[in-house]
Amino acid sequence: MPGSSATLSSPFFTDVHRAMAEATDTYLERLGGRRTSLLRTILDERHYPDELIEAMASLGIVGAMIPEEYGGSGAGLLAVAVAMERFSAWGLGNALAMLTVMDGLAILRGGSDEQRQRLLPAIAEGRLKLAFAITEPDAGTNSFNISLRARREGDVFRLSGEKAWITGVDRADMVLVVARTTGREEISRSGLPKTYGLSLFLVPTDTPGMSRTEMATVGIEGFSQFHLHFDDAEVPESNLVGEADQGAAVLFEALNPERIIGSSLSVGLTDYFLSRAVEYANQRHVFGERPIGSYQGVAHPLARIRANQEAARALMYSAAEAYDRHAPSSVVGTYANMAKYLSSENAFEAADRAIQTHGGNGFVADYLLIQMLAPARLAKTAPINNEMILNYIAEHDLGLPRSY
Ligand SMILES: Cc1cc2nc3c(=O)[nH]c(=O)nc-3n(C[C@H](O)[C@H](O)[C@H](O)COP(=O)(O)OP(=O)(O)OC[C@H]3O[C@@H](n4cnc5c(N)ncnc54)[C@H](O)[C@@H]3O)c2cc1C
Repeated sequence: MPGSSATLSSPFFTDVHRAMAEATDTYLERLGGRRTSLLRTILDERHYPDELIEAMASLGIVGAMIPEEYGGSGAGLLAVAVAMERFSAWGLGNALAMLTVMDGLAILRGGSDEQRQRLLPAIAEGRLKLAFAITEPDAGTNSFNISLRARREGDVFRLSGEKAWITGVDRADMVLVVARTTGREEISRSGLPKTYGLSLFLVPTDTPGMSRTEMATVGIEGFSQFHLHFDDAEVPESNLVGEADQGAAVLFEALNPERIIGSSLSVGLTDYFLSRAVEYANQRHVFGERPIGSYQGVAHPLARIRANQEAARALMYSAAEAYDRHAPSSVVGTYANMAKYLSSENAFEAADRAIQTHGGNGFVADYLLIQMLAPARLAKTAPINNEMILNYIAEHDLGLPRSY
């Protein structure tokens, strides 16, 4: 498929993965020239098209991690990754789908049976889209610093505080909000672990007492980020996911999948830049007969990026496969963190080299490159910055002491 180096021949692929990859490729190929107009809608109008969101549901991507008994296909994380990678290779990666899959997983792992029956089929069918809110103005990398409070009052909780940088709230039906049900002072006074005291709440986006202010961010084109303000927003107890105070354990279950899906988006985005750079380098002549692609100064950086892409892809597939076969979380975590690191650094490098290959045209909006620099760059910072990824590898894989 032009624009994508994604392969159907990974040793991890079963018929399920090949079918997902082929169905996704067929859908994207059939879009033909409309792929570019959809991308322009994302970049110029800053609106991710509904038809792509719907396609991801009907292709079975958002329902792939949901078991059949709850209306999904149970195809697993590797199936999600191979599909997401393909959308991203055309610049059509969907951050809200990633968040919805991640939140669905939290419901599956931590939710009650009533919540699973009520919510998971709706997610799989694309009727329920979910944002995720953990970051606060003073709690990003250090999530344990969050201070948004949830206070129980009979059979409801009242949420008060702030969240920031929350993606896609205007397009989502609910936000999975991480709130504090026990204060940090009480936790340290009682000698409880710092993972204690966090709870997860599904908050409908039209909840009275929750308002939003759009942030002037770039990085996820097509979806905006919001400050969320909670002023005694009432959430029924039936929307508490998992036990009160024990939300961190449920959350941790969803973090590796988020990194793996994020990595699949970066691997796909690398294709986006490489294919454009190669096409231009083959047709642009600057000195005489030979196209600029014959100059090793142009070709070698692209070849290096291609090699690193395949290494990142292999790690990303390994992480997804390990997750799907329920390998120990230390194994999944090691692969997932390494994949996230390599793929995001490489996608940014690919963006830079594609722009360099295009000379001045790299800065002309019609080439659709300069607008994609920020999305490529974002993956080094969010959902978790690469310093924390290296901290994880240093501590958990190499056995070095923690510095923070
Ligand atoms: C476009 C966009 C979309 C986002 N969407 C969401 C969303 O949907 N939901 C959500 O909850 N959040 C979201 N975020 C927030 C994102 O997850 C945080 O911005 C990110 O985790 C970093 O937190 P921070 O901004 O507070 O940086 P800080 O915590 O202030 O860190 C600043 C920098 O310090 C360095 N640093 C910090 N700690 C360490 C350490 N221990 N070792 C080494 N270096 C360190 C890192 O370089 C880091 O980038 C989004 C952010 C962006 C930009």
